[in-house]
Amino acid sequence: MTVSVQRMTDLALADRRVMIREDLNVPVKDGIVTSDVRIRAAVPTIEHALKARARVILLAHLGRPEEGVPAEEFSLAPVAARLSELLGRNVRLEKSWLDGVKCEPGEVVLCENVRFNKGEKKNDERLSRRMAQLCDIFVMDAFGTAHRAEASTHGVARFAPVACAGPLLVNELVALETALENPARPMIAIVGGSKVSTKLTVLEALLAKVDQLIVGGGIANTFLAAAGHPVGKSLHEPDMIDIARKLMDESKRRDTGVAGGGSVIPLPTDVVVAREFSEQAEADVKPVGAVGQGEMILDIGPDTAERFAGLLARAGTIVWNGPLGVFEFDQFGEGTHTLAQAIARSPAFSLAGGGDTLAAIEKYQLEEDISYISTGGGAFLEFVEGKKLPAVAILEARAAGAGT
Ligand code: ADP
Ligand code: MG
Repeated sequence: MTVSVQRMTDLALADRRVMIREDLNVPVKDGIVTSDVRIRAAVPTIEHALKARARVILLAHLGRPEEGVPAEEFSLAPVAARLSELLGRNVRLEKSWLDGVKCEPGEVVLCENVRFNKGEKKNDERLSRRMAQLCDIFVMDAFGTAHRAEASTHGVARFAPVACAGPLLVNELVALETALENPARPMIAIVGGSKVSTKLTVLEALLAKVDQLIVGGGIANTFLAAAGHPVGKSLHEPDMIDIARKLMDESKRRDTGVAGGGSVIPLPTDVVVAREFSEQAEADVKPVGAVGQGEMILDIGPDTAERFAGLLARAGTIVWNGPLGVFEFDQFGEGTHTLAQAIARSPAFSLAGGGDTLAAIEKYQLEEDISYISTGGGAFLEFVEGKKLPAVAILEARAAGAGT
């Protein structure tokens, strides 16, 4: 691995207050965790620390609460419950922890949602120092949040007595680096989901790396709007239409190098629409030009899904982040299902990442058939793009002896 960081597995942890930042941002419905892939991914790290008789203090975030306003809806309580089951021991949820956490050697305490603290997102120095005071060793293990410099991912690593990488983070970095070093061609990226503005900005760099880019979800809607198609009430980013148009124009001048592969950014030709966003909404298949003003595009259509599946069958490497539609509702899940199956069947080396992407893979029971599943979504895309992740950069700086 070209990154040089201290590793948790090289340190003596007995009796130490070991604060581990994990990515436990999982989907929750009615107080129950509906997909626990990320929690399961963190278990080996926690078990390693417990076995070493560390005092294990976990930090994590859930959802997007308003900072400084603890809301029941974003409580980590369901995560504590699921983690207790997986570890076979009680994991205490500490509601108020910034002034000190009581934790015995061999015990695990989960601190309530870090995003309830004012200053978390802004990487506030005072907040970061308060967190750092609670530990002897800070372990960054949350690959999924390593692309954000926040108090619990970056600031705390500046001020903790020791800052190192956990085994999950190290494994992710090594696996992705190896897979992307010399990818088999053609390389196809699939980007969907709902975080349109953050994801659209990485597409330009991603396009430079891949041979084709398949878009879905809110990203596809923005591209469809840029191509002059009506998108009605669909999730899309009007401010980003110009960027989408520029990317399409540039890509038109490029040869995919794929025989019969079509354009660099193939757009949907049919879509599944609804008049309301709900589990009961009626689904209609329409050609892209025929979306009504009051309608929302909630999935790619069957013709499009087949065409995209054909491209994936010929790929050498596939990188996937973001569901192609609202797969949580079955009538809008066919696009995601068809593409997930095509990825699973393709001989290509396949990499998938993202909280909801993992939930979709779990729903369609394809975990075994994807070559590498990353816990990261945005972090995963930025890594593919070739960016240095800030939470990793600070660990490197600490390992090199630079304090802050
Ligand atoms: P990930 O967590 O894998 O990075 P995102 O969080 O960006 O993915 O997006 C996932 C969400 O996007 C899903 O909950 C899905 O319902 C939603 N989504 C996908 N397509 C659409 C669409 N056309 N309109 C609205 N929401 C969509
Ligand atoms: Mg998500």
